[in-house]
Amino acid sequence: MKPTCSNCYNCCKSYSWLLRDEVKIFSKLAIPLIRINNKVFCIDSFKRNNKNEIVLDDKIPECRFYKNKKCSIYSNRPFFCRFYPILFRSKGEKIIFVLDKNCFYVKFLNKNDIKNIRDGFDAFLSNINRKFIIKIISDLYEVSKITTIISKNDIKIKEIDISELMRKGK
Ligand code: SF4
Ligand code: SF4
Repeated sequence: MKPTCSNCYNCCKSYSWLLRDEVKIFSKLAIPLIRINNKVFCIDSFKRNNKNEIVLDDKIPECRFYKNKKCSIYSNRPFFCRFYPILFRSKGEKIIFVLDKNCFYVKFLNKNDIKNIRDGFDAFLSNINRKFIIKIISDLYEVSKITTIISKNDIKIKEIDISELMRKGK
């Protein structure tokens, strides 16, 4: 039996990173956010002790919006959550998009499925506004610099040179 999201939701044990534009939207909605490394924001799902200090026993806490085995803000969930199981790695000036092998769904993909995902990703990049793409990718790159390490098990989807992307965008 193929696992489905309805009996999994492993990915909601996550920092739920936000794009810069989403920070403005989520702040207006009074959703608690936290800034990591003085750089990027995520939804604040960290536990607190009785002095209101962050308790880091659980380094990657379950998202505060994961309720009754589902996302309680599904239609407004962050871009990062919509993108999953694609994750981002940084390597120097490059951002590398990979499929997360921790996702049960990814474990069941065959070569043809992966090719379709790569093609779909290319189509996504070529069909949306260039300025918007640059904005999103530079935000994802900032997240990738502090969160992810390259693994030999990564299933690579796409590699983008950030400085080249910026040059072309001018
Ligand atoms: S980890 Fe994968 S299979 Fe599990 S809920 Fe997330 S997307 Fe679905
Ligand atoms: S916002 Fe929703 S989809 Fe994203 S991690 Fe939280 S519960 Fe999961």
